[in-house]
Amino acid sequence: MRKLIDKLYNETALTKGEYVRLIRDHTQEDADYLFTLSAKRREEYYGKDVYIRGLIEFTNYCKNDCLYCGIRRSSKNVERYRLSNDDIMSCCEQGYGLGFRTFVLQGGEDPYFTDDRICSLVSTIKSEYPDCAVTLSIGEKEHESYQAYFDAGADRYLLRHETADDSHYARLHPAEMSPWHRKKCLYDLKSIGYQVGCGFMVGSPYQTAENLADDMLFIKALSPHMVGIGPFISQHETPFSEMQSGTLEQTLFMLGLIRLTLPNVLLPSTTALGTIHPLGREKGIQVGANVVMPNLSPVSVRKKYLLYDNKICTGDEAAECRYCLQNRMKAIGFSVVTSRGDCLPIK
Ligand code: SAH
Repeated sequence: MRKLIDKLYNETALTKGEYVRLIRDHTQEDADYLFTLSAKRREEYYGKDVYIRGLIEFTNYCKNDCLYCGIRRSSKNVERYRLSNDDIMSCCEQGYGLGFRTFVLQGGEDPYFTDDRICSLVSTIKSEYPDCAVTLSIGEKEHESYQAYFDAGADRYLLRHETADDSHYARLHPAEMSPWHRKKCLYDLKSIGYQVGCGFMVGSPYQTAENLADDMLFIKALSPHMVGIGPFISQHETPFSEMQSGTLEQTLFMLGLIRLTLPNVLLPSTTALGTIHPLGREKGIQVGANVVMPNLSPVSVRKKYLLYDNKICTGDEAAECRYCLQNRMKAIGFSVVTSRGDCLPIK
């Protein structure tokens, strides 16, 4: 196994069979060895810096019905909300004061937010905060919509591919959603000029080591600027309520593999990781992640954006989340930096 890990470190790629073996057959010692190299690689690019993104969950209306997600349209007990433009601007104002230079607008696929509304929101934020990056995470759209948001000033787009395997995708999504379209969206976004993020859940229902290996190959081929991964966590109102959640160990291992596969990638240590273990986000940073995404959404809506159960930080003010994470990073020898935090070029 060590040989395979060395190979990945030196060549930044493995074959599918090699990824499968590593993912399926590694021991804790192998994982620890991976982590020494992934931490080293992280440090070569990003030192001890941790980039922060202010996450604004601006709508929980969604027309999709992803089987794992707590805000899917079939969830009848979710109290739906939309933030107004004024609400969103005051999140940005507060965030800017706290040192955020990236705002991530994330939401369900909410038809109320037409392209015109998204464009006007993006251009208002960019005109008030020209030194900030705006990231959109609002799902699958057509090329012309993505182009319009980009022309309005959006810098980055997060769209997890969820799984690179078509039959696995079909078990996680209703028939009307297509893996082909989701991947096409990612290639469209890239060709338009966005900094693009893909990603997947670790330990999602029916996921195999082969599926995860295919995710690695997909990520290598797409070569995105960011990769968002976190454990799948079951949500009580979804069809997957009884399914096992992903584990800390598995997620850390995948973070390490991603850092070695894409040395300069922006890699968040996610809230979901912090949800399955009290020190999950710290451990993610220690094995190669370099981004955290504290929540800037108004406290009044936090408990309504529950993609999964037991989500942390739903009662905290933005400033509390910001300083809590800063302290957590400091405690493990890392420092939160105030900058846009763009992806560095490959060395
Ligand atoms: N509607 C947007 C934003 C999705 S929410 C979009 O389609 O991109 C952001 C991510 O949360 C999803 O891509 C998914 O990977 C993750 N997520 C959803 N439900 C989850 C669950 N139960 N456990 C862990 N992660 C989940």
